Parts: sequence; structure tokens; C-alpha cells
Amino acid sequence: MTRDSRYDILFEPVKIGPVTARNRFYQVPHCTGLGWLRPRMVAALRGMKAEGGWGVVCTEYCSIHPASDDLPHPYASLWDQGDIRAHSLMTEQVHEHGSLAGAELWVGGARSTNLFSNEVAMDVANMPNAIGIPYQARAMDKSDIRELRRWHRNAALRARDAGFDIVYVYATHHYLLAHFLSPKTNSRSDEYGGSLENRVRLVRELIEETKDAVGDRCAVAVRFAADDSIGEDGEPVTGERRDMLEMLADLPDLWDINIQDYSREMGTSRFVKEGSLETYMSWVKSITSKPVVTVGRFTSPDTMVSQLTRGIVDFIGAARPSIADPFLPKKIEEGRIDEIRECIGCNICYTGDSTGTPIRCTQNPTISEEWRRGWHPEKFEPQGSDANVLVIGGGPAGLEVTRVLGRRGYHVMLAEAQHTLGGRVNRESELPGLGEWARVRNYRVHEIQNMHNVDVYFDNRMDAEHVLAVEANHIVIATGASWLADGRGLYNQVGLEQLGPTERVFTPDDIMAGRLPQGPTLVYDDDHYYMGNVIAELLRSHNIPVTLVTPETIVSAWGGKTGEQGRVQRRMMELGVDIITSHALASFDGSEAQIECAYTGNRRSLELEAVVAVTMRAPEDSLFQELQQSLENGSDYRPKSLTRIGDCLTPTIIAGAVFSGHRYARELDTEVDPDNRMKYDRVFFDDD
Ligand code: ADP
Ligand code: SF4
Repeated sequence: MTRDSRYDILFEPVKIGPVTARNRFYQVPHCTGLGWLRPRMVAALRGMKAEGGWGVVCTEYCSIHPASDDLPHPYASLWDQGDIRAHSLMTEQVHEHGSLAGAELWVGGARSTNLFSNEVAMDVANMPNAIGIPYQARAMDKSDIRELRRWHRNAALRARDAGFDIVYVYATHHYLLAHFLSPKTNSRSDEYGGSLENRVRLVRELIEETKDAVGDRCAVAVRFAADDSIGEDGEPVTGERRDMLEMLADLPDLWDINIQDYSREMGTSRFVKEGSLETYMSWVKSITSKPVVTVGRFTSPDTMVSQLTRGIVDFIGAARPSIADPFLPKKIEEGRIDEIRECIGCNICYTGDSTGTPIRCTQNPTISEEWRRGWHPEKFEPQGSDANVLVIGGGPAGLEVTRVLGRRGYHVMLAEAQHTLGGRVNRESELPGLGEWARVRNYRVHEIQNMHNVDVYFDNRMDAEHVLAVEANHIVIATGASWLADGRGLYNQVGLEQLGPTERVFTPDDIMAGRLPQGPTLVYDDDHYYMGNVIAELLRSHNIPVTLVTPETIVSAWGGKTGEQGRVQRRMMELGVDIITSHALASFDGSEAQIECAYTGNRRSLELEAVVAVTMRAPEDSLFQELQQSLENGSDYRPKSLTRIGDCLTPTIIAGAVFSGHRYARELDTEVDPDNRMKYDRVFFDDD
């Protein structure tokens, strides 16, 4: 297939200072949860993006000196020779595919506590640690600033030696340089504070010195926020930003523009849609002749073209779309647009940085697995035998196992009890704000539909007898999980003695099936992610008074890891949900609920007509258990294997179910050492 000519513009080369990007697809710096800790994994991950057609592939934030360390968040670093070696693994793989590699040099200021290096953090002024750790950053004096400039220059030289083509001056996201720029944080009275020119001075010096150090070979990019703040009306306030950009307009070789509010810049699809930064960007290109990039969770090639032709940007910046589909550019180039695996905007990828663990993705289970498991997002081992496989259940796990086995060439029979495929994704994508989650189903169903070796049987609820009668070589059970209605969960580990009558107690499954409570309702959230609060939102849209009770101290505590907790809490407040934190449900008799303080155990009562229990799920594994029993009892037919996957194995997030299906399909008929299922990445030793 060839590409549609209207997308030609996306594939034009663009000059960035002394280097040229082969096209306009630009993977902006994004965290991976791998950083300096996992050099081979991160190199393979970035190399895969280049193979998939991203013309520029950048690192995550990359510390210039031990005085800026961010553990437990696994940042990258360019501190010494070992780091140069580690990064050259990445740049080699990126260059192999004709792409440019970019390094985002980073100084954390009051946002880095230096818990690893024990260096005292420094910032523009004395200020508390910005992430709430009980340390302070000390004000930099002039000699500190001179030192910082030396560190930055040396890190730029190390970046060049590691093979990078683009070196960043990182002046946003509330890190050190952003604090120098802002009149709110910069209270200095020397030549680095006060006037606009003074506050911009350090950024200007770093751009000039980076150009001086490496500008003959590397482009110098600046990451910069286009807004000062958000107005009361929700509109961006440009403030001094335009003046600052005018002062520096053509000094760097590229502007990488984003905004102050991280939860909007990379907001979840529940709150923020594709191309949402456009309103902030309108004036940027009129000020500089240098190429401009920004992000916007772009997955539609038409939107991308529109951004370019309307003069908003010169590059299509992406973090999440490149994670969900490293081969997005190639698919557009080859006219395979309907094969794009679109990001759903769930931000599970971001939890890798939040938790200090390798990045994972709901849509792309191969991310982080490129090196350690050898998984390529688009290539699969051919089938290892003529075996056929019966998959029961067409939720995300069943769809993924079918898709990948189908790609490998196996004959797959997929039986689904319902009239449609998708399982939990069908139900959950109908909840307020979660519509884009349907992409998990749509991508997989589209792939499966085009496979001649896959047969799908709808309206086919299988029991053990039916399953064995098929005489499939391998049986995979992907029958999902159901929410419990007995209050059992993290807080109440044995369930509640009094929780009834049943017609007044609901679970998320009831709500998603359209069975709604009638009167004032208590949503009991002991799950702490999205389900409790989207159900509260749904009930409010039906004008049902809602009290949300959670044992945590905030609503959707785990939503902090996806960067949406603040927006969730605000949404609940705006919807008039009565929020009671640090309390657990103790009992409900149909008209009165007792709730208990999570700290003191003190109880109080609330008059309510219904409870929605959002606590935990139980695997729907009765079919698996029956089959296992039949096989143990010596059934006439014996398959080569019987396996349960996804939520049926253990209930988890959608990303977990997809991963589980993917893994089964990858590993079938391959040799996997049960004690060493993957390679373990480790940092280099100096004497390696
Ligand atoms: P997962 O997240 O693990 O993929 P889901 O709950 O999303 O699980 O999907 C499970 C799917 O299995 C649902 O679509 C459900 O209709 C289907 N299912 C459950 N039991 C059976 C059965 N006995 N026969 C066929 N399909 C089933
Ligand atoms: Fe997109 Fe979710 Fe994947 Fe992140 S985890 S890239 S938000 S689909």
C-alpha cells in the first residue's frame, strides 16, 4: 500500500540547526520508568520508535549532575563515562534507522530532593521542596550559578559524545530554570532577578553556552511553556511569555513548547482531548523562524496535517501516541491508517515514572519488553505447531490472545457469550469520559476481522461439556471477573455482616448494566482508582444525590499516579458529590449506613437509600475450575493445555489483562525457562 498524498507533508525533512530530521514525527522527551537504571531496555524502547518511523527520538529528563537527582523516579543521567556508554546504546539504535536522537538536559531545583546523592538541592531562592518532602532547596549564589553553567556545558559535551544530535535546555515544568523565569519564584535582587531581561538571563546563557559547546554538531532545543497560568475562565494567560520568547526568538534551533499545567498538557482522555494545546500555541510561530513542536495526543493523521498546514507547528510532537504505537508514522507512510493502535489517554504509561517501575501501556503490551523479552510490537514468531486454540471470552485478554495467535498463524476459535466483543471495555467505555477506551476493543476487533485463520462465535456461552466437545488442542479461559457486593476489599478484608437488602446494594456491574439506584446513594470507594468516581459522576448525571466515602484521605488516591487525581477531586466537588474521606463503610440496612473513621474507628450514621460497593472483584473462573476437575477426573478428551488469563486469572487493570493475553500468545510453543522468563537489565560497572 502507498500513502495518501495528503499526508506527504508529514514526511518532509526538516532542518534543525546543523541536523535534519527525516520527517515531522517527533518523539518529545518522555519518562519511561527505566532511566539510568535500565540502559538496555530504554535503548531498545527508543530504537523501536525510530524503527517505527519517528524522525526524532528523545530521552526522558536527563540529569546533568548528581546535585539534581530524582529517585525514586527513574530519570536519565549524563554524569560520567558510564552514562555516555549507556546513552550511546540508545543513539546507535536510533541512528540505525536514520532518526535523530535528542537529550533533554535537566536540573530539578526544588523539585529534586537528591535522596540518592545527598547533595543539597539549589534553586533560584530559598524554598521548600516542591513535592512535599521535608527538605528545602537553598538559594544559589553567583558562584553556584557559574558552577551550574559549567555542569550544563559539560553535560552537553557528554551528550554530544554519546552521539546525540539535539541537546535541550529545559526551561519549564516547574524545574530550576522555570523558577528563574517566573516572577512568582524569582525574588533575587542581582542580575538574575527582577526585570524580565534578568530573569531570562540564565536561560539565555545556557542556550548560548550549549551552542558554543556543541552547536557545530548538535541542534540546541529549548523546552518552554507558552503560558504563565490559567485564567478563571479556564483560558490560558500568556502574560510575559510572549515577551520572553521574543527576547530569545531565534537563539535556539528549535522550540519545544508546552504549558504550565501538567495535568492538562498530558491530561487523561476523561478530561483532555486531542490537540488541546492549540489555544496556547496560536502566537508562537509568528515570533520565531525556528521550527516549533508541541504535543496533543495526536493519533489522527488528518489532525496532524491540519496542525502543520494551519501553521501551528512544524513537527508533530508525541509521547503517548508513540508509546501506544511506535509504528504510527510507518503505518501512515504505508497507507495502513486503520492499523494505527491509538492511545486511549488512560495514562497508565505515566504510572511507570510515578511508581519507579518500567513503563507499561494499555494498548501496547510490548513497551519495555523490547530488550528483556525480545518482543517487537509488529513482528511475531510464526506458529510453533499446527495446534489450534479455543479462546473463551472476548474481553481485552481474549481479544489480545486471539489477535497475537492469529498473527502467528494459529487457527483460533474465539467463543463469546455476548453479541459483541470487548467484555469490560464495552461496559467501561460507556462510563462518563471513558469513551476513548473503546479503542482497546476497536483496534483488536479490526485486526481479528481481517484474519482468515480466526473464527469468532458470538452468543456462545460455553460450559465445560461444550468446551471439551470442541476438542481444541489448547484451551484458554478469558472469562473475566465480577465486582463483589459484600463490601470485602482492602479495608474490610472479610466483608460486612450487615449490607442489604440486596435490591439496595449495587456493584459497578449493576450500574454498567443500567440498574441504577433510586434515592440518595453512598458510593463506597475502596478501589481508589477511577471506578468509584466515574460511577459517582454517572449517578449525578441522573440527579441522584451521592455521598462518596473512601478510607483514603483523598478521592481516587491512585489517580495521583496517572496525574489526574486533582482533576477527579475537583470534578466530584463541582458535581456536588458529598465527599467523606478517611472513612470506611461499616454497615447498611437499606435506610441507614454506618461509616467508621479509618483512624479512630468512631462511627457515625448517614441516611441513604442505596449503596454502590466499589471494592474488589472476584475472578469468573468457574468454567476453568470445572474443566480442571474434568481433566483430573480423566475426561475422554485431553487438550495439550488448559490456561486461564486476564481478569479470570487475577482481576487487574485493562493493561494487565491485555498483557496477560499477549504473553500467553507470544509464549505458546516456545521454550520459556520458568525460572528466568526474561533477561534482567542492569547498569554498567566502571570496569565493565
Ligand atoms: P478480561 O479483562 O480478562 O478480558 P472481561 O471481563 O473483559 O475479561 O471479558 C470476559 C468476557 O468473557 C466477557 O465478554 C464475557 O461475556 C465472556 N464470557 C464469560 N463467560 C463466558 C463463557 N462461559 N463463554 C463465553 N464467553 C464468556
Ligand atoms: Fe496511551 Fe494509555 Fe498507552 Fe499511555 S498507557 S500510551 S495513555 S494507551
